[in-house]
Amino acid sequence: MIPLIDLKKQYLSIKNEIDEAMASVIDDVSFIAGTYAQKFEEEFASYIGVKHCVACANGTDALEMALEALGLGEGDEVIVPAISWISTAECVSKVGASVVFADVDYETNNISLKHLEATISSKTKAVIPVHLFGNPVDMPKLMQIADRHNLYVVEDCAQAHGATVDGRKAGSFGHMATFSFYPGKNLGAYGDAGGIVTNDEKLAEKARLIGNHGQAKKFEFQFEGRNSRMDGLQAAILSVKLKHLDNWTSLRIQHVEYYNALLKDVVDVPSYKHNMKHVFHQYVIKGLKDRDELKQFLLSEGIQTAIHYPEILPYIVPYKETHGEFSFPNAEKVVTGILSLPMFPEMTNGQIEKVTDKIKGFLSA
Ligand SMILES: *Cc1c(COP(=O)(O)O)cnc(C)c1O
Repeated sequence: MIPLIDLKKQYLSIKNEIDEAMASVIDDVSFIAGTYAQKFEEEFASYIGVKHCVACANGTDALEMALEALGLGEGDEVIVPAISWISTAECVSKVGASVVFADVDYETNNISLKHLEATISSKTKAVIPVHLFGNPVDMPKLMQIADRHNLYVVEDCAQAHGATVDGRKAGSFGHMATFSFYPGKNLGAYGDAGGIVTNDEKLAEKARLIGNHGQAKKFEFQFEGRNSRMDGLQAAILSVKLKHLDNWTSLRIQHVEYYNALLKDVVDVPSYKHNMKHVFHQYVIKGLKDRDELKQFLLSEGIQTAIHYPEILPYIVPYKETHGEFSFPNAEKVVTGILSLPMFPEMTNGQIEKVTDKIKGFLSA
């Protein structure tokens, strides 16, 4: 069996470091927030190249807390791309604002800057660009549009740890940015975890208060918040794994180059621009006419694949009645023909060859 991702193999490659880190958290009984979370916050802020990181319980909370910290709510519109995980849209409704979907560019799968401008109204207050599959959005251009229209920008970096544009990290462009450290993400904990990064001290402070029941100090409640903090075990694991992240990303890119060389003549393979570092959270091939049959065939050959995502966000149940008058031809075209192939740093060339041989066999039959 070739899995989509092999977290066991990764754990075994760093077992000593992880086991030691976990033992010291337990030894120090530093379970919630505390010194390990603080240490990870400092390391991660420095890795992204921003002043502040606020660790929290998961990437969905991070998005919601960021919007809340910005003061977004009823009557405000927030633009999100038509292709993403539901959290990118969910957070908007959860703070009481309205979701407006923008179509994507077929080539990048990311929010179309042209369609973004077309969806801006007098009520638009923010945009949430998503660096989908690890491919960074053209942030300098997006920030120009946002500045022109006075919009807040919250980057959803859940799939893009370490991605760059012109050498600058995704997550350092927007007013705020959010990360997920869900186990399967490029930087993943051993449970749920998330984080918010920003250069703005006031926004960081507000987000931290929100995640700790509105308390700056114990029992000094300033407003109603919630419970969303990172636990010490996850923080210690993330500190260990952060040191390996760049090496793991290089391995992903090596695998992509091998996949692309073997597949480029038979399917639409992912490309990336020279001034951008795509970190390949997923390796996604596109334009497949018999996608579902290919997926089934690969599974019967012991190869696990996935579809990110089977439906575009405006058409899933929570939004299909309310998504408004815009249409999403590019997003629809993307999702009908995509397939995510096995992609993880610990893959071998032999595994890549098996996957690509089976795909070629299927397509030439
Ligand atoms: C994973 C993901 C999230 C949510 O993160 P969780 O930690 O699972 O809550 C948000 N946005 C995108 C694009 C994601 O891929």
